[in-house]
Amino acid sequence: MEHEFKISSGGKLDCGRVAIAGGGAAGCLCAYFLLKAGFDVTIFDIASPLRTLLPTGGGRCNLAHAEYDYRELAKNYPRGEKFLYSVFSRFSTADTIDIFQKMGIKTYTQENGRIFPESNSAKDVREKFLGKIKNVKFVREKITGIDCIDTGFKITTALNNSSGRKNESRYLFPRVVVAVGGHSSLGFMKNLNLKIIEPKPSLVGLNTDKKMPSGIVLKNVLSKDLNIKDDILFTHFGISGPLIYTISSIKARENFPYKLTFDLYPEDFELQNLLNTFPHKDVKNILSKFLPLNFIKTLLGEISDIKACKINGKIRDLILDKIHNFSVNICGTNKGEETVTAGGVDLNEINPKTMEAKKYANLYFIGECLDIDGFCGGFNLQNAWSTAFVAANSIIEKYCK
Ligand SMILES: Cc1cc2nc3c(=O)[nH]c(=O)nc-3n(C[C@H](O)[C@H](O)[C@H](O)COP(=O)(O)OP(=O)(O)OC[C@H]3O[C@@H](n4cnc5c(N)ncnc54)[C@H](O)[C@@H]3O)c2cc1C
Repeated sequence: MEHEFKISSGGKLDCGRVAIAGGGAAGCLCAYFLLKAGFDVTIFDIASPLRTLLPTGGGRCNLAHAEYDYRELAKNYPRGEKFLYSVFSRFSTADTIDIFQKMGIKTYTQENGRIFPESNSAKDVREKFLGKIKNVKFVREKITGIDCIDTGFKITTALNNSSGRKNESRYLFPRVVVAVGGHSSLGFMKNLNLKIIEPKPSLVGLNTDKKMPSGIVLKNVLSKDLNIKDDILFTHFGISGPLIYTISSIKARENFPYKLTFDLYPEDFELQNLLNTFPHKDVKNILSKFLPLNFIKTLLGEISDIKACKINGKIRDLILDKIHNFSVNICGTNKGEETVTAGGVDLNEINPKTMEAKKYANLYFIGECLDIDGFCGGFNLQNAWSTAFVAANSIIEKYCK
């Protein structure tokens, strides 16, 4: 079927037809609203719909965050904050909870503000969600091109057949919603000449020059550069865990290498008193109350074996410096671990009130393919849900005019 035009609805460009490129969180919620309004929706995806929901929240699907003030909510997006004011003023946390409730998915809020389905199952969310969009036409093909034509848009797709030969198909649609996520190459949009901010990994572990024993978690470590406290995990490649994910997000566009400094034990800590109280104990045994033993051994080397009574003021200050000013050079991100990407379609190309491209009427962009990304905690799915609603609502309003 090479180069064949496939036009449904008897060859006419039926006005109620919408193509959605990408059947992830944003694409499927957009389809949900459009179906309810009676639109004829086709989703193109290389894989099965809502597959990207399955690993979210460690399989539990952290689908939103309990921040109900839309301006406060928008502060959790290192890229996109101002753009999202308008989006979140139309569809925010309370609307997300309400929509999922309508789909038969009740939610609860964890102590840290993260919102999960009562089932604690992303699989359950996916199944119930798919049950609500049964009338969508799913086309399992990879989009390789989108072109603007007189009557709308031409979508080109490629399908690898069993002989390894590429079949190319073309489809015409009066309106298209692009929802291909943050991990897709956006090269298929090159003919549209939209500005793309190069995607960089975010919410990701960082590779360090210095390696500490892997598998160790330190609680409530302070990042001295960013003045934020959270847990850190030492790994075979460097550092990871909640604190590092936040730092990787804030510094997603910074060039490597860069230096980070941490206070590994920011609480009050009178080392001299402890040395005086336990003169015959090794330093490592005194400090093991505060930090794991094998971590101290790597951090302090030979000093860790010295008896407390032999520690003079200079060595004491060196120990304190190693704990309160632990520095590492960051030389990259841990490949393949990124949760989201920082970058995508430049927000200056998009009208935040409609999600429509400023240069192309009836072409919409939603979700992570935009230059929007948030911290961990349900913010990235909230972006997908909210932008999906705004685009669907705008399509519906425009059609009904
Ligand atoms: C391991 C992991 C855990 C996460 N956990 C959470 C969490 O708990 N809470 C949270 O808020 N966020 C979480 N996120 C982030 C969240 O999943 C994404 O931000 C969100 O799914 C983005 O939605 P989207 O619809 O924009 O893109 P996606 O959900 O990524 O969907 C994009 C879809 O487009 C398809 N596609 C891509 N290119 C093409 C093409 N050329 N042709 C056809 N189809 C294409 C893909 O196959 C995919 O189905 C997590 C991410 C990961 C990786």
